[in-house]
Amino acid sequence: MALGFTFANVVEGLVISQLVIRTSGIPRTLDDKRWLATFLGATVIGSAASSAFAAGLSGNLAPAFFVSWFITVSLGTLIVTPLIVTIVNGLRVNRSDFSMRRAWQLLLIAVGFAAVSSLALSYQDGRFLFLPMIGVIAVTYFFGSRGAAINISVIAIIATAQTDFSGSAIENLALNGDTLFLQVYLLSLLCAAWPLSALMAAKEKLIDQYAEANAYLKLAESTAHVGHWYVGNDYKSLNWSEEVYRIHGVEPTDLKFDDKMDLQETTSLTLYHPDDRDMVRAVLLGAMERREGFTYHARIVRPDGSIRCVSSIGQPRYNPTGAFEGLFGTFHDITDQTETLEALRIARTEAIHEASVAQRLAETDYLTGIANRRKIMTSLHIASRSATQNKKSLTIAIFDIDHFKQVNDRHGHQAGDEVLKRVATIVSSQLRPTDFVGRFGGEEFLVVLPGESSDNAYKIIERLRAQIACETWAVAGLTKVTVSAGLATVTESGDIEDALRRADEALYKAKEDGRNVLRSAA
Ligand code: GH3
Ligand code: MG
Ligand code: MG
Repeated sequence: MALGFTFANVVEGLVISQLVIRTSGIPRTLDDKRWLATFLGATVIGSAASSAFAAGLSGNLAPAFFVSWFITVSLGTLIVTPLIVTIVNGLRVNRSDFSMRRAWQLLLIAVGFAAVSSLALSYQDGRFLFLPMIGVIAVTYFFGSRGAAINISVIAIIATAQTDFSGSAIENLALNGDTLFLQVYLLSLLCAAWPLSALMAAKEKLIDQYAEANAYLKLAESTAHVGHWYVGNDYKSLNWSEEVYRIHGVEPTDLKFDDKMDLQETTSLTLYHPDDRDMVRAVLLGAMERREGFTYHARIVRPDGSIRCVSSIGQPRYNPTGAFEGLFGTFHDITDQTETLEALRIARTEAIHEASVAQRLAETDYLTGIANRRKIMTSLHIASRSATQNKKSLTIAIFDIDHFKQVNDRHGHQAGDEVLKRVATIVSSQLRPTDFVGRFGGEEFLVVLPGESSDNAYKIIERLRAQIACETWAVAGLTKVTVSAGLATVTESGDIEDALRRADEALYKAKEDGRNVLRSAA
C-alpha cells in the first residue's frame, strides 16, 4: 500500500509540473496571472490523477477517500510550490539584485514568525490563529511574494509537526479531521497573502520601469549635454536635472533654491554672466506674463571662472483648468558649437578680406596703382555692353608718352617710373567717377568715357593732354613731358577690338603729326 501511495504522489508531481511547464513555462514571479491560472488548473488535474491512482492501488474506492486524498494533495501543492519557486528564483537571481542585508532580515523574521506560529498553534482552541495571519500579511507587505512563500511554508512545517498523526492513515485523511482544518487554514493564509503580494509586485515593477526610464533620461541628457529645469508657480522652488548642475559645474548641495523666488532675487541668476542676467530675467518674466514659449542664449560663469555658453528653450505650464503652474525649460551647453561658429565667422571674415586684397592686387598695376590691363579691359567690356543696352555712346582714348625711351635714357629708369606714376595720377584725378583709366602697356594708358559723344570726349582728352604738357617735373633736368592720344568711339555693335584698333591708328597718326597732339579715328 505504501508503494502504491508513493506512486500516486509521484504521479501528481509529474502531471502538475509537465502541465505547467508545457503550457506556461517556468515562472519568473509568483504574480504572473497566466502562470497562476495554469498552476491552479494543473493542480486540480494532477491531484485528481493522483487520487485516482491512490484509490485504485489501495483498493479504497470510497468517495471520502478520493476527496480527502484530493484535498490533501492539492493543498500541499498550493502551499509548497510557491516556496520552491521562490528558492529556485532566488538561486537564479542576479548578484547585483541580491542584498545580504535583506536575506538576513528575512531569515530573522522567519525565525520570529516560527516562534509566534508555534505559540499560536499550541492553543488547541485556536484563539491565537489570527496572529500568524497578521504576520503573513505584514511580511508580504515588506518582502512581497518571497516573504509570503517562506513564512507560509514555515507555518506549514510547524503546524505539521504539532499535528497528532497517531490515528490511522484513513482517519488522518478524514474530511472532518484536524489535518483538513490545518490545510484549509494554510490555504486561507495563502489566499490572504497572494493579492497583496501581486499588488506589491506590480508596484515594484512600476518602480523598476520608472527607474529605467529615468536612467535613460539621465543618459540622454548627459550624452546630449541638455538638462532641464522647472520652477513652480509658487516661485519658491527651482528644480534642476543632474545635467543642469553638471553644466554649471556645481553640486546639488552647493546651491539652495528654496528660500527665495528664483526670478527676482536669485541664486540661479547670479550664476549667469553679469552682462546677461537682466536679459535672462526679462525673457523669463516676459514668458510668464505673456504666457508664451521662450528661448535665450546666455553665458554662465562656473565657480572655477570658466565661461560656458548655454541656450534654454521652454514654456509655461498650465493645469487642466488653464491656471499657470510653472515654467519649464531645457538647458543646453552650446559652448563648443558657439566656439566653432565664432571660429568660422572669424575665418570667413579673414577669407573675405584676403580675397578682396587678392582681387585688388590682381586688378591693380603695381607701379601706378591704377587699373591694370586686365581690369581696364573688363571695365571696357562692361561699359560697352551697358552702352549697347542703353543706346548710349562710348568713347575710348589711348595715351602714349612721347619719346619715353629718351626719358629713361637721359634721366634713368627710376625717373621714367616717376613720370609714369605722375601721368597716371593726373589722368585719374581729372576723370569723373563714371570714367575709367588703366595702364594699357609700358607707357600707354587706356581711358574709357561712357556716355560721351566723340566731341565731348575730344574736349576732355585734349584738356588732359594740355595739362600733362604744362606740368612741371621734380626730376632734375626734365623740363617737359608730352603725350599723344588716339580717340575712337565704340560703334553701336559694341565691337571693342575694332574700337581699340581704330584708336591705335589715330594714336599712330598723332605721332606722325609731330606728337603732343590728339587725333580722332575716322
Ligand atoms: P614714341 O614717342 O614713339 O612713343 O617713343 P617712345 O620712346 O615713347 O616709344 P618706345 O616704344 O620706343 O619706348 C617705350 C619705352 O618705354 C621703352 C621702355 O623702356 C619704356 N618703358 C616701358 N615700361 C616702363 C616702365 O615701367 N618704367 C620705365 N621707366 N620705362 C618703361
Ligand atoms: Mg609706346
Ligand atoms: Mg611712347
